Amino acid sequence: MIVKVAIDLSLDRLFTYEVPGELQGKLAVGQLLCVPFSSRQVNAFAMEISAGDEASVEGRRLRPIGKIIDEKPFFTPALLKLVGQIAAYTASPIESVLRAAVPAAVLKPNAKARELLFVEPSREPFAAALTSRQRWICEQVVRLGGGWMRQLCRELGTTPSTLRALGQKGALVITVQARRRDPLCAAKIRPSRPLELNAEQRAALDTVLASELPVLLHGVTGSGKTEVYLQAIAAVLENGGGAIVMVPEIALTPQTVQRFASRFGDQVAVLHSALSDGERYDEWHRIRSGQARVVVGPRSAVFAPVRNLALIVVDEEHETSYKQEDAPRYHARDVAVMRGRIEHARVVLGSATPSLETWLNVRKGKYTLATIARRAGAGRLPSVAIVDMAEGGEERRGAIFSPRLLEAIALRLDRGEQTILFLNRRGYSRSVVCECGYVMTCPDCSAPYTYHRADNCLRCHICGGWRTVPRECPECKSSTLSYRGIGTQRAEAALAKCFPHARILRMDADSTSRKQSHDDILGAFRRGEAQILLGTQMIAKGLDFPNVTLVGVLNADSSLNMPDIRAAERTYQLLSQVAGRAGRAELPGEVFIQTYDPSSPVIVAAARGDFVAFAEEELKIRRELDFPPYLRMALVNLRSKNAKLVSEWSEMYAKSLKQVKGLIVGDAIPSAIEKADGWYRWQIMLRSPSSAVIVRAWRWIIAVRPAPRELRVFLDVDAYNMV
Ligand code: ADP
Ligand code: ZN
Ligand code: ZN
Repeated sequence: MIVKVAIDLSLDRLFTYEVPGELQGKLAVGQLLCVPFSSRQVNAFAMEISAGDEASVEGRRLRPIGKIIDEKPFFTPALLKLVGQIAAYTASPIESVLRAAVPAAVLKPNAKARELLFVEPSREPFAAALTSRQRWICEQVVRLGGGWMRQLCRELGTTPSTLRALGQKGALVITVQARRRDPLCAAKIRPSRPLELNAEQRAALDTVLASELPVLLHGVTGSGKTEVYLQAIAAVLENGGGAIVMVPEIALTPQTVQRFASRFGDQVAVLHSALSDGERYDEWHRIRSGQARVVVGPRSAVFAPVRNLALIVVDEEHETSYKQEDAPRYHARDVAVMRGRIEHARVVLGSATPSLETWLNVRKGKYTLATIARRAGAGRLPSVAIVDMAEGGEERRGAIFSPRLLEAIALRLDRGEQTILFLNRRGYSRSVVCECGYVMTCPDCSAPYTYHRADNCLRCHICGGWRTVPRECPECKSSTLSYRGIGTQRAEAALAKCFPHARILRMDADSTSRKQSHDDILGAFRRGEAQILLGTQMIAKGLDFPNVTLVGVLNADSSLNMPDIRAAERTYQLLSQVAGRAGRAELPGEVFIQTYDPSSPVIVAAARGDFVAFAEEELKIRRELDFPPYLRMALVNLRSKNAKLVSEWSEMYAKSLKQVKGLIVGDAIPSAIEKADGWYRWQIMLRSPSSAVIVRAWRWIIAVRPAPRELRVFLDVDAYNMV
C-alpha cells in the first residue's frame, strides 16, 4: 500500500510513501501524518491511498510513513476535492490551500484541549467517617452536581487539598477532563424564538429550502434576511444537517454572533480572528466532532469540517473581504458555491447590493432569485437627496458642507437626534501642494502624503511612513504650501467651528489604532454621548443606531474616480450602505449625498435605491468593454525593488502571453500605486471567457520564463484589488 501526501513546503507536488503493514488498516485520506523528509520528520496530509506494492517510484526507494498523528481525518474526501478544485482554479500549490483550510492553532505542535480537574460526588457508597465541615462540602458538591476544582474551591471557600482528601476517602471523584475555552462565555445570551415571517420572508425561505441552485437573497438592509437565514438553519438542523454562516470580518461583531447563539445555543461555533489559539482549537474540534453544527465565521469558515453540511449562507456576498489577498487567492463566496455543489448543500447569497457577478448568474438562470423589497421591523427606508456641490458657484468650490446639510444637522441637534457623516478619507487634507505644482510625495511609495494635524506631520497611507511638514517647497523653495482635499480630521475641525456646542466623535484608522477604541467610540455614540459621528467606510457597514435620523455623504465622487473597473459598483454599494444607516427605528431618516456630478447614473440609482436599474446599466458597460462578469479577468502582478527589472520582465511576459489563443492580454503597465514600500509594482491584465485558459497560460509562462530571484510574480484570478 502506498500513500501520496502533501507537505507544507510550497513545492506544489505530492510525495509518495510506503504504508507499513501495521498502519494499513488505520490509514485514511485527510489524516494528519508524520513522515520522514530528507533528514527531518515533518507533518503531512494523506491525499491519496492506493493499493500497490511498488517499492520505488522514479527509481527511488519509498520510505515508510512515520505515524498517524490523528486518526480522525482533518479533511473529508469532499473537502479534499474542494481543496483540489481551489488549487486548480487559483493556480496555487495544493498545500497552500490545505494550510488556508485548517486554522494554524489546530496544527501547532503543542496544540491540545485544556484539561482541568473536575470534581463530582461519588456514586458509590463509602464508609469513611467525615467531619461535619467535610460532610457539608460533599452536600454542596451534590447540590451543584459537581464542578471544576478551582471554581468549587472559590465557591465553597475551601482548598484543593481538602477536596483531594475527600477524593482519597472515596467521598468525591476527581478526574481530569477537557474544559472548553468558550469564546461566547462572556456574553449574556438570552434565548430567542423564531419571528412570524412576513409574506416576502416566507416566500424567500421556501425558495431557499427548495432550490437546487444557489439562491440570491436580495433584500434591502433591515428587510429581515437574517431571520430568513435563522429559520433556514433551524430547518436543516431539524433534519440532522449542519450549516455555515459567513459574514464579513468587520460585521462579525458580538451582536451578530449573539443572534445565532441565542437561537441555537451551544450548537454554534464561532471562528474569527479575535479568538485565542485555545478557543480556536476547541471550536474547530467541536465542529469536527459534530458537537457544533452551526458555524459562524469570516471567509475561512467556508472550510469548516461541518458534519452533514446542508446549508451555506454568505451574508453580504458582495463584500470584497471574501476575497483572500494572499495565496491562495480564493473568493469565499465562490468557494461556498463550489462546496455546495460537491456536498449537495443549499447555498444562500444575501445582499442589499449584490455583486454583478452574482447578478449575472441570476440573469443566466444559474442562481435562483428571492427578493425582499420592504423592511421587516420598525423603520422605513430613508428619503435620499442629491446635493449639487457646484451650486453656488466658484466661491463655494471646495466647501466641505453644503448649506442644506448644515441646516439638517442643526435641526437634529435641536431635536436631540443623531447624525452620521461619511467621508472616505482619513487624515486632515488629501495632499500638500506647492503653488509651483509640486506635490509632497512619499519616496518609498508613489502616493502623495496626507497631512495629519493632530501630530502635525505628513503620513503615507500606503507604507505608514511619515515626515515633518517642510517649511518650504523642496522644488522652488517657496513657503506657500497649501492643503488640498478634505480628510476626516479637517472635516471634524470645520464641523466643530460650525457647531461649537455639539459633541463630535471621529472614527477612522487613526482614531481606532488602539484595541477596543473601535467599540469605545461606537458604544459612546450608542449611549448618546455625542450627537455626530464622523468617519470613513468603517462606519458604513452593519451598524444599527435607532436615534440616527440623518446621514451625510460628504464627497460621493471620491470612490467613483478610483482606478478600478468596479469603481461604479463600489460606489453604489457604499452609498446604499451608508444610506441604510438612517432611520432604522421608528424615526424617519434623511440622507444627503454631496457630489459635483449630480446626474451620474450611479449616484441617481443609489439615491433611489434602485439596484436593478444600476445593475442593468452597469452590466451594459461591462459587456461593451469585455470586462467581468462577462469575461474572467486575472492580473499578473509583478513586484521588485529594481525598477528596470520589473518593467522589462513585465513587457516580456506581456509580449509572450499575447501569443496565447483565446486570451486577451493587456499591455504591461505600472500599477495605480506604482511603488509601495520601496517595491515597484507592475501588472498585466488577462481576460478570457474561460479561467482555465488563463491558468494554463500562466503555468506555461512561468515554466518557460521563470522569474529571477529579485522579481516576485503572482497571478490573481478574479482580481478585486486593482491598485
Ligand atoms: P437584514 O439581515 O436584512 O438587515 P434583519 O434580519 O437584521 O435584516 O432584520 C431587521 C430587523 O427587523 C431586526 O430588528 C429583526 O428583528 C426585525 N425583523 C425581521 N423579521 C421580522 C419579522 N418577520 N417580524 C418582525 N420583525 C422582524
Ligand atoms: Zn510610503
Ligand atoms: Zn514649489
